[in-house]
Amino acid sequence: MKQLDIGVAGAGPAGLAAALFLSRAGHRVEILERFEAPAPVGSGLLMQPTGLTVLAALGLFETIQSLGSRIDRLHGADATSGRTVLDVRYDAAPGGRYGLAVQRAALFNTLHDAVVVDGIRIRTGVNLASVETRGDRAVLKNAEGVEVGDYDLVIDASGARSVLAAKSVTAPAIREMTYGAFWATLDGQGGAYDRRALSQRYDKAKVMIGLLPTGRAQVGEPHRVAFFWSLKVGDVDEVKAAGLDRWKTIIRNYWPDCVSFLDQIEDWDQLTLARYAHRTAQPPFSERLVFIGDSAHSTSPQLGQGANMALLDAAALSHALVSCADLPSALAAYARARRNHVRLFQLLSLAFTPFYQSDSSVIAWVRDRLVSTIAKVPPMPALLASIVAGTLIDPFGPAGLTERKWQEDLSLLSGMA
Ligand SMILES: Cc1cc2nc3c(=O)[nH]c(=O)nc-3n(C[C@H](O)[C@H](O)[C@H](O)COP(=O)(O)OP(=O)(O)OC[C@H]3O[C@@H](n4cnc5c(N)ncnc54)[C@H](O)[C@@H]3O)c2cc1C
Repeated sequence: MKQLDIGVAGAGPAGLAAALFLSRAGHRVEILERFEAPAPVGSGLLMQPTGLTVLAALGLFETIQSLGSRIDRLHGADATSGRTVLDVRYDAAPGGRYGLAVQRAALFNTLHDAVVVDGIRIRTGVNLASVETRGDRAVLKNAEGVEVGDYDLVIDASGARSVLAAKSVTAPAIREMTYGAFWATLDGQGGAYDRRALSQRYDKAKVMIGLLPTGRAQVGEPHRVAFFWSLKVGDVDEVKAAGLDRWKTIIRNYWPDCVSFLDQIEDWDQLTLARYAHRTAQPPFSERLVFIGDSAHSTSPQLGQGANMALLDAAALSHALVSCADLPSALAAYARARRNHVRLFQLLSLAFTPFYQSDSSVIAWVRDRLVSTIAKVPPMPALLASIVAGTLIDPFGPAGLTERKWQEDLSLLSGMA
């Protein structure tokens, strides 16, 4: 395909990765971001073998690995009885896969530094509001209705609450989810927690408390931990009104080992409220506008897939633009490449979320008694490992990727030992 002018809306993981792939493929790319200075939003993320393979394809695996914290296991227990409810180990499936928990800042810095090195233009302080097709160009306008650029293709990577997606006929309105979570990034040096696991405690499905070791944002900085507590978004004001000390007491009673983290929280401002929304754009494009990342498919982070899927989208779109002769075929090829994987994981996220975030005691009982028992019976451990890794169906081939060879890291580890 000829060299295209491409405008990328949003400097999140999807937008930054897409800009890197497409600029390296020879297209003229610029990123437009609403913030005055591009910056990560939120706390920690669990990178899966899918997203890590995309970063490897961009030559960024070693950088992210040097910052993140290797995760081998997802472990959850009933807060009252201590009984294990969830125990998923990556090594239950062959391939030597593992997760890498990172601070959002680490993922952002890794991608953003590469964008700067590659000389890709980022225009900040541009609050995009609409896109209009004019002949064979797509024109982007800001919130004041002023034209800010015109391109052969606009990539909407502006996240779950994208205004461009909201105005598109192919993207249905987002469905706000009842539950959200308070998140904090805390000092991870002390404290009793499993450094190789995402650890959670539950009270039925209405309470979920979690700890995720997330490594460091930059080399030389201390390692941190992401702490989260899920709650109904509608209950936030009531919880805050009851006071921070009362909230901390509730958590301490559920999970006494958390005390060293709770002691670090002295103000509600240290906690960010994350709200979740669900939406799948079908197809993820319309005329000269294509959706990637959360603007194409957003969901609750229960399965830890969102950023990874955003990176897969970026790789798949770039692969389609390289492989097809014209834009319409490339956009259709991108949609085909991602369709099954996105559908499956959107469905799984919808199905799993009530097991961890709902008012239903029945669902919680099923999870604690039935699911946790069935989960131990082969082939369930391997199946669950593939779900968590994002590899239940092949996400790599359709995106033009070859999965990274994780076994090499094992031989490196044993060599070091
Ligand atoms: C609490 C929480 C925990 C999560 N945990 C995980 C996890 O463990 N693993 C995982 O893979 N995923 C996780 N996710 C999901 C993950 O954060 C998202 O899927 C991912 O950030 C999507 O990337 P994106 O680039 O599509 O969008 P975003 O990260 O939302 O980036 C969008 C960018 O677009 C910009 N923008 C928005 N509107 C405009 C506009 N009008 N004009 C210009 N710029 C605009 C924003 O400022 C931002 O920079 C989690 C999400 C939450 C909320």
